[in-house]
Amino acid sequence: MYDKDHLEQVPTNLFIGGEWREADARFVVEDPATGHPLADVAEASANDAVAALDAAVEAQQSWAQTSPLVRADLLRAAYEQVVARTDEFAHLITAEMGKPLAEARGEVRYGAQFLRWFSEEAVRIAGRWSRSPEGNTRLLTMREPVGPTVMITPWNFPLAMATRKIAPAIAAGCTMVLKPAEQTPLTALAFAEVLRSVGLPPGVLNVVTTTRAAETVAPLLRDSRVRKLTFTGSTAVGKTLMAQASGQLLRLSMELGGNAPLLVFDDADLDRAVAGAMVAKMRNIGQACTAANRILVHESVADTFGTRFAEAMAAQRVGPGTEPGVEVGPMIDQRARHKVQRLVASAVDAGARVLTGGTSRPGPGYFFEPTVLTDVGDHAVVREELFGPVAPISVFGTDEEAVAMANDTEYGLASYLFSSNISRVIDVAEQLQFGMVGVNQGVVSNVAAPFGGIKHSGFGREGGAEGIDEYLSTKYVGIAP
Ligand code: ADP
Repeated sequence: MYDKDHLEQVPTNLFIGGEWREADARFVVEDPATGHPLADVAEASANDAVAALDAAVEAQQSWAQTSPLVRADLLRAAYEQVVARTDEFAHLITAEMGKPLAEARGEVRYGAQFLRWFSEEAVRIAGRWSRSPEGNTRLLTMREPVGPTVMITPWNFPLAMATRKIAPAIAAGCTMVLKPAEQTPLTALAFAEVLRSVGLPPGVLNVVTTTRAAETVAPLLRDSRVRKLTFTGSTAVGKTLMAQASGQLLRLSMELGGNAPLLVFDDADLDRAVAGAMVAKMRNIGQACTAANRILVHESVADTFGTRFAEAMAAQRVGPGTEPGVEVGPMIDQRARHKVQRLVASAVDAGARVLTGGTSRPGPGYFFEPTVLTDVGDHAVVREELFGPVAPISVFGTDEEAVAMANDTEYGLASYLFSSNISRVIDVAEQLQFGMVGVNQGVVSNVAAPFGGIKHSGFGREGGAEGIDEYLSTKYVGIAP
């Protein structure tokens, strides 16, 4: 059983060429609810990363030639195993990332769904047969695996961010080197062991854990054998990686930061709007790129909404994710909490009002009180990605104003709107400059939908029918009569 007290069975070495390998050094993973060490994990060097790529390159050709059904069955078997071990994975996620157990179980279900979805997609990769306009050439359009892929994932969804990339890559026939976030490597390693145990051939997936992300990844991006980079993380790091990836002209998928607006119109069902805003804000302790960063409310319902939303936030139970009934766990680390603390304090200095919360919690762990602010103006608290349990509320008058405020950001990932008027819903959804719009709900993530952003939130889509396209390239064969 993987839980905080029984981590000894979790693999902690590098996974290269189907084997668990030691590294020259190790680093400590800590429990964000206490700050105490949980486990120590192999610290990959640049050489280890290159060894992982060697294994991926060696496996690529034979892996691409496996039948779609073999790849589908592997994914299905991994799905069954992750679902059967939901509790174990949930404990592991809570231990290293901090989210409450109930949410961690939700992540396991969500993460596992990508395995099932792409097991079903693996057997539906099709091309096209057509004739040239002149009618004298046959055009065969086929789709092939892109090739060895470097994957970099963040700490906020340690399982789901990995399966959302690994599953379509397996389905498409790509091999890969995964570098999970240094704060949460254990879940990725445990998942690699699942794939090994269901028979994934050696070298198809390789996992390198490290605290030295930049120096470990850079040689891979310079290596002409790599064909693709897929990254989920901050916009700043995404831009750096994109620049590095230009050397080899890598195919790219970039799932970057967000600054999601949540619009509450005067005709919204306020019960649903409050419940939806709670989910959109507080899922994952506010540490999601889809998290509602700005709540924009029509002036006629702003006071009522603000009071009810602040009550709901104040009623949240904060504590270690393993404690029954806890709804809000710790933030990931001191740096993350400090950023939120700094933004809130500076907003308050600039005139913002605190409806509830506003401070860190004393004691061990990186806890921060669920916080609601109003009168924030144009402060950095609504411009920067908060990535924490803080909700700034602003007020709008007209629909045009609401849309203009919502779009006034460099980001373009998720957005939300609450209204019971279908014409308004369609009209506003069309005008929102975001990759995703949640209507009368606070969640946009869905395995069957294309997840992704525009503008500084990146490009590429994960999940849905589009998800597998990211791992396929197109070739056409022109056949003379
Ligand atoms: P956050 O600030 O939320 O931790 P990051 O964008 O810094 O987000 O991290 C997301 C992932 O990117 C992590 O796996 C991290 O180790 C990795 N990472 C950060 N910087 C680099 C870099 N220069 N090169 C490669 N990977 C990086």
